[in-house]
Amino acid sequence: MKISEILASSTKAYPSLEIVPPLRGMTKNELLESIAPFMEFSPKYINVTSHRDEFEFREEADGTFSRHLIRNRISETTVCTAIMSKYDVETVPHIICAGTTAEEIESKLDNLEFLGINNIVALRGDSMTGEKRFSPTPGGYRYASELVEGIRSYQGSATYRRNRNTVTDHYFCIGVGGYPEKHFEAANIETDINNLKRKVDAGADYIITQMFFDNKVYYDFVGKCREVGITVPIIPGLKPLSTFRQISTIPEAFSLDIPVDLTKEMTNAKDNKEALYRIGTEWCINQCKDLISHGVPAVHFYTMGKSQNITEILKNCF
Ligand code: FAD
Repeated sequence: MKISEILASSTKAYPSLEIVPPLRGMTKNELLESIAPFMEFSPKYINVTSHRDEFEFREEADGTFSRHLIRNRISETTVCTAIMSKYDVETVPHIICAGTTAEEIESKLDNLEFLGINNIVALRGDSMTGEKRFSPTPGGYRYASELVEGIRSYQGSATYRRNRNTVTDHYFCIGVGGYPEKHFEAANIETDINNLKRKVDAGADYIITQMFFDNKVYYDFVGKCREVGITVPIIPGLKPLSTFRQISTIPEAFSLDIPVDLTKEMTNAKDNKEALYRIGTEWCINQCKDLISHGVPAVHFYTMGKSQNITEILKNCF
């Protein structure tokens, strides 16, 4: 089922869960066991992130340097297949422009259609480690809006085309990312929201936001999006803090603010692991309950390999 159909038919907010593919070396069973705690909540779907290939240069015996591919994580398509082989749940692979050509993406779409996957989150991805700014791969897309256009123009297999209701039906439902505290490269939030609108105008069906820790930031963002004519659902993204380090690593990695009150609470408890976990989890539960009371369609959780705090939040909120 397409996420757009789930969003349109849901009468109350539901949890949406995002996982990161395992590092090379982890087995399929280990992956499936790691997500088993989520399955008790019968999630409607599981998002699987995508990670660009990296390269490193190694010095050879003759003094020259050779370029080597480093692929640290299992691919999103493989992880989606593994999940669907065990659990009766839809999967939503993320597809990124970074490090790939438009042709390679089209081949990926063929593979997803072959597997019966018809939901995608379309993203640009980030620059390679050590690279200052994002640079598109020759023959690849520069922005997520171009990727959305590319996915929209995907015609699907002959069987799909024969059986679809109208020629304007599309095979894939597309989600895109939005940034309540602005994407770090954008000059200001208004410009960033106009760029977000390009993605929606190109065919995105819904938006998932970057994580935020102050709900006001999300409500203001939704208001600004509606003002410029973005009408698609905007799913808020949450992540519970669990360690003291995160109050500096998360703002740096995701270019966002942690509210003063949360920072103070975490700092006061900085040597007490259990207290830090409780503070982060309670904060997220309060955010989630408040979002639900404001009528959000779903709440997206960045699980990042953690299940204990997320399952506690799900038990308390849904
Ligand atoms: P874009 O929408 O292309 O925007 C990138 C920047 O370009 C923004 O500053 C925007 O304002 C600007 N821009 C856009 N269009 C134009 C234009 N036409 N002209 C000028 N400027 C423009 N990363 C991964 O690697 N893998 C993942 O699985 C992944 N999942 C994510 C899930 C969510 C919900 C979110 C919010 C982010 C995710 N990311 C992921 C991170 C994302 O790839 C980065 O934040 C990336 O830097 C931007 O991606 P985007 O799709 O938002 O890019």
